[in-house]
Amino acid sequence: MPCTTSLCLLLLLLLVLASSTLGAPARKPRQKLLLVSFDGFRWDYDRDVDTPNLDEMAKDGVKAAYVTPPYLTVTSPSHFTLLTGRYIENHGVIHNMWFNTTTTEKKPYYQTQFVNEWWDNGTLPIWITAQRQGLKAGSLHFPGTASSYQGQVAMVREVEPQPYNYKDETLWRQNSDKVMGWFRDEDLDFVSLYFGEPDGTGHRYGPDSPERREMVKQVDRAVGYIRRSADKHGLTDRLNIIITSDHGMTTVLRKGLVDEITLYKIPGFSFSDVSFHLVDYGPSGMLLPKPGRLEKVYAALKDAHPHLHVYKKEDMPESLHFSKNDRILPIILWADPGYLINGYFPVQFNKGEHGFNNQEMDMKAFFRAVGPAFNKNLEVGPFETVNIYPLMCHILGIQPEVNDGHLNATKHMLVNGAATRAADVNSMQDVFTGLAAVSGFLVVLFIAMISHRVLTKTRNNKRLGSSEHHPEEKEEETKQTSF
Ligand SMILES: [Zn+2]
Repeated sequence: MPCTTSLCLLLLLLLVLASSTLGAPARKPRQKLLLVSFDGFRWDYDRDVDTPNLDEMAKDGVKAAYVTPPYLTVTSPSHFTLLTGRYIENHGVIHNMWFNTTTTEKKPYYQTQFVNEWWDNGTLPIWITAQRQGLKAGSLHFPGTASSYQGQVAMVREVEPQPYNYKDETLWRQNSDKVMGWFRDEDLDFVSLYFGEPDGTGHRYGPDSPERREMVKQVDRAVGYIRRSADKHGLTDRLNIIITSDHGMTTVLRKGLVDEITLYKIPGFSFSDVSFHLVDYGPSGMLLPKPGRLEKVYAALKDAHPHLHVYKKEDMPESLHFSKNDRILPIILWADPGYLINGYFPVQFNKGEHGFNNQEMDMKAFFRAVGPAFNKNLEVGPFETVNIYPLMCHILGIQPEVNDGHLNATKHMLVNGAATRAADVNSMQDVFTGLAAVSGFLVVLFIAMISHRVLTKTRNNKRLGSSEHHPEEKEEETKQTSF
């Protein structure tokens, strides 16, 4: 009995020590990650503008030919895909605008940022996942920052006030320095940083305008500034920077050049058959027909215009991943590039738009990455932006949530799988240390057991007298002697 107790105690001690050794944190400092989005930066915007800083970043890191955003190619849904790795039908932030089909209330982009239930819809953004796994995360102006998720928020966050001058280059520099301060002074592991350009300029002046080219130069200066700021804050060796966007931009074709799409004018279609609609929002639209009117509305719109695509929700092309969500309305409309969907009459006057099919080249976005995890001077092929989330989790060394991306799509960018390779090496070292500890304790345990047995045996022999012989004990004694 005393033997069993001491054995149990030793085993317990052994287990505790072994598990604490095996679970020891990695010794190398964890790599940090900054995710930057320049809204509406089309994949080819650097082709007609001198961009020395983006070129230098490509030389020092990785450049993708382009990346494919999710459909619907608009700001909040696409940014939430970056943060979650889920297609829009799966994360549920299906539009820039919150809406209620019963009250017919709609909230514009900025107000929707503060509608918690619109964002907190079952899918966790990377900030929360990182924090739950012991990391520190922050966000500046990134869509989704204002909301809480299952009661949690990014631990350091800033939401832009309204009105806000998204073009102000001085503010851009201040914001860049601010997030570098978060990394250095508050030891954050991950920060997402959002800039509202060149989207605004692309809308207002069009993607082919000199104004857009000037704004791309400003973006380029910002990229240089961000990298210098990282250096000044002593972060270059540990900080990875991913710069990407939510969608591209295409030129809107105007009356005189094209036959515009205006639903009110379509024969057989009537807004009186519809109880709620989301149109006059670029090239996409959704309709909720009144009970019993779905077929009528669908028949009227289908084939009504050569550049208008009309789908019942359940018939949406699988590749768009924009169907399987209760928030998506029963009839979905989208227009070909250059066309907008107007309700009663044209009310949209942007020269550039997005929201089109994500297979259109003008909707593709750019992608650059630099830092200790990434290869240098590497150009890679295109990939979908759902894959950025697993890449980020990999670099941060955290377990991703369920998502629609794959690390396989991006791991060739990494220095021999750098980030985790480092982590793997650390864990292998930990395993060896743990095994050594286990072996050591096994030896100690064995010696302790033998000593205990010898002492017990000696005492028993003294008590029983040398004439008495117990075969079992004799055998044990032999074993002990032979050891
Ligand atoms: Zn936009």
